[in-house]
Amino acid sequence: MSFSKSIRELYQQEIKEIQGQGIFKEERFIHAPQAADIEVEFPTGASLKKVINMCSNNYLGLSSHPDVIKAAHEGLDHRGYGMSSVRFICGTQDIHRELENKMTEFLGTEDTVLFPSCMDANAGVFEAILNENDVMISDRLVHASIIDGIRLCKAQHDTYKHSNMSHLEQKLELHADKRLKVIITDGVFSMDGDTAKMDEIVALAEKHDALVFVDDSHSSGFIGKTGRGTHEQYNVLGKIDIITTTFGKALGGASGGCVSGRKEIVELCRQKARPYLFSNTMAPVIVSGVIRVLDILSQSTERRDKLEENANYWRKGLTDAGFVLKEGDTPIVPVMLFNAKLSQDFSKDLYQEGIYAIGFFFPVVPKGQARIRTQISAGHEKHHLDKALEAFIKVGKKYDILGKTKKEIIDVYGM
Ligand SMILES: *Cc1c(COP(=O)(O)O)cnc(C)c1O
Repeated sequence: MSFSKSIRELYQQEIKEIQGQGIFKEERFIHAPQAADIEVEFPTGASLKKVINMCSNNYLGLSSHPDVIKAAHEGLDHRGYGMSSVRFICGTQDIHRELENKMTEFLGTEDTVLFPSCMDANAGVFEAILNENDVMISDRLVHASIIDGIRLCKAQHDTYKHSNMSHLEQKLELHADKRLKVIITDGVFSMDGDTAKMDEIVALAEKHDALVFVDDSHSSGFIGKTGRGTHEQYNVLGKIDIITTTFGKALGGASGGCVSGRKEIVELCRQKARPYLFSNTMAPVIVSGVIRVLDILSQSTERRDKLEENANYWRKGLTDAGFVLKEGDTPIVPVMLFNAKLSQDFSKDLYQEGIYAIGFFFPVVPKGQARIRTQISAGHEKHHLDKALEAFIKVGKKYDILGKTKKEIIDVYGM
């Protein structure tokens, strides 16, 4: 027997260790489309509870928008359910190219290539365009999928301290002799909700002859005054060599991703990027849905404006109530609790109050930086935010953390 008792026990032991560390991930079943109001089964087998969703990436509220659903139905009706092929064999429809062209226009780049996910885009792009004579210099807080992409690439790798521009410059000087240097960053960092200093990064890239890569998964559709992303916010449209992003967050929330940027880089991805060459084409129903999303966003900034207004309202409400927040101006608003157990207890109490928001702690965030990460959506109405605020204040009072400083909270609860 190949999967012997001892092998099974080996794996059971590892699962136990994960549980022992308190980092076992329990999934909660949602019995509804992704939206501001959802019905959740938690724990498994419990009766359904109606809660307000404060932790999805549905930033623009488009995940179950009627026009997007209608477009998806049209995609299904006119182009079928699946392509049963990778792009370069017989998996490219007219609508795949249409979506690539629309993304190019939306992002203000030269060309775009679709991937099954942004994880795949990040896994494929570096290996496709760099070799052992090159160096990748990444922010220390980049997303896990970028770290995997870096691992798969033969170029050298170095890092700079999070958003530390003088450290980045030192690294650029250190690697001055390389054939190519690529600065690698997230646009918005998902755990803290802060944005990369794209203007300073571009200036350093120009000074030191480096390329710039940004993953705008938590920005595309709503950061910048027309929602193009961090390059719009920092006035560096057209100056980013490689943008990767996902269709699984603000841009409809289904799945898929892309690499967008210099046309030669995009072409090399088509020729060489392994997740593009060896993983199936995005399904027509999703392609059709994302095309509609881009049409909606190109016609009006109403949704991203509402999101900005909601996020400001939420941030101000929590600040006035006396919570410690991470500074920032994105719809990702982390409520700092510092202690891991407190973050879990707080989240459970919120759930009892009808608010769905998850606590994060080490190793997802650094030790002593446990938090409830809230994410605001254009799908939230004021009454959602007011009810959530009321619940946060009630639970905050219970644990006596309102108006308390970081030090005061840690003195009581520990790190
Ligand atoms: C969510 C996320 C991804 C992964 O996107 P998928 O399309 O779901 O694979 C990649 N990078 C960043 C920064 C993300 O936040």
